[in-house]
Amino acid sequence: MKKNKDVYLDGAANTPLDRKVYKAMKPYLRHSFVGNSAAIHNHGIKAYMKLEECRKVIADCLKVNRSGVYFTSGATESNNWVINSLAFNEMKKPNGKKHIIVSAIEHKSVLSACKHLESFGFKISYVYPHQRWGYITVESVEKLLTKDTLLVCVMGTNNETGSISHIESIAQKAHEYGALMLSDCTQHLSFGGNFIKLGEKNPSVDYFTFSSHKIYGPTGVGCLIVQNDSPIFPLLLGGSQEKGIRGGTSNLAGIVGMAKAVELLCRNSHVDHYYKLYCHLFNKLYKLGISDLFKTNGEPSRYNIISLNCTKYINCKDQLASRLAAYGISVSAGSACDADNNETDEGVFNPSHVLVALGLPENEIRNTIRISFTKYSTCSDIDHLIKALIKIRKDINGG
Ligand code: PMP
Repeated sequence: MKKNKDVYLDGAANTPLDRKVYKAMKPYLRHSFVGNSAAIHNHGIKAYMKLEECRKVIADCLKVNRSGVYFTSGATESNNWVINSLAFNEMKKPNGKKHIIVSAIEHKSVLSACKHLESFGFKISYVYPHQRWGYITVESVEKLLTKDTLLVCVMGTNNETGSISHIESIAQKAHEYGALMLSDCTQHLSFGGNFIKLGEKNPSVDYFTFSSHKIYGPTGVGCLIVQNDSPIFPLLLGGSQEKGIRGGTSNLAGIVGMAKAVELLCRNSHVDHYYKLYCHLFNKLYKLGISDLFKTNGEPSRYNIISLNCTKYINCKDQLASRLAAYGISVSAGSACDADNNETDEGVFNPSHVLVALGLPENEIRNTIRISFTKYSTCSDIDHLIKALIKIRKDINGG
C-alpha cells in the first residue's frame, strides 16, 4: 500500500478550522478595523459589543447564564483557574477546606493542578473509573466525600476512551457534602446539537470548561462557565477585563471564531455521521473475520472517540500509533498534551495514565490506538487505517 496517503483520525487532539468560522473571524484579525475591547473610543466600544454578542451566543447555545461565561486561553487555563483560585481562597480562611477529589482519568491540566496543591497542604483523593466501561460512578465518588471536601473534578466525556460519566448526579452528591463540582467538558461538546446544552442537562455542575479547537474553532481560546452563582476568584491578575477577574487583552478574533463554532454545533448534530463511521469500522473488521481480535477500552459512548485495543491482532514491541504514522495515518497513543505518552529519548515507555487507571498492562497500552473522528472523516479513511493495520501485522509476523 502507498505510504503517502494523509489520513487524519485525531479529532480529539485538534479539529480543522471550519471555513465558516474562518470567515467570521477574518474581519477581526485586521487591527485597522478592530479596537481593543477595553478601550473607550468607538473602535474599542465596537469590539466590546462584539465580545458581549459572542458571550450571549455561547450562553444561549449552551443554555447557561451569560453572566457566568468567561473567556480564557483554553481548557488548561480554565481548569487551573477553578482549582487554584478556589484553593487559594480557602487557604486564607483559618479553617478552610483542604480536600479535593479528582478522577484518575482527568486531563493532565486538572490532575497536575490538583497534585501541585499537595505542597500547600491539600489532600487529593483519586477516584478510579469502572474498569470495563471507563466512566466514574456516583458511588465511587461518594465513598471519598467528606465535609472537608472543597471540590470534585470529574470530566464529562473522557478524551481517550469516549466514556461518559454521570456528571449531574456526581455534582448533586458533591453538593450534599457542601462541595463544588468542576467538569472539564472539552470533549463533551463535540457531538453538537442538543448534546451541547450543558446547563440544561447538567444544572447542578458548578464549573464547565472547554476549548475552541476541539469543535472546529481556532486554537488558543476557551471558556470557563460558572453556574449557580458559584464562587470564582481572580487567578490571572492584571487589567479589568472579564469583570475584573481575568486580566489580559481579550482575544477578540479567537472569541468570534469560538462563538461561531459553538453556534454551528448548536445547529447541527454530528451523531449520525460519527455513528456511520463507527459502524463502518466494526462492520469492516467483522467482514474480514477479525473483529474478535479487537476490543474497546472503556465504552465509546460518543462514537467519535474510540480507544481500540489491537493487542490480540498485533503485538508490537513499540507503539502501534507510531507505526501507523509511517503509513500517513494520524491516530494517538493517548492524549496529545501528554508528552509522557511517548517513548522518551532513553527508550523508557510512559504509558497513558487513563489506560493505566483502567488496569491495562503495558503491552496492551502499546497496542492501543485512540481513533477520534472529525466531521470531515470518511469511510475511506477507515478503510485506509484497516489496510495499514493488516500490513503492519504482516510486517511483524514476517508474512
Ligand atoms: N481537557 C481535555 C479533556 C482535553 O482533551 C484538552 C486538550 N487535549 C484539554 C483539557 C486542554 O485544552 P487546551 O490545550 O486548550 O488548554
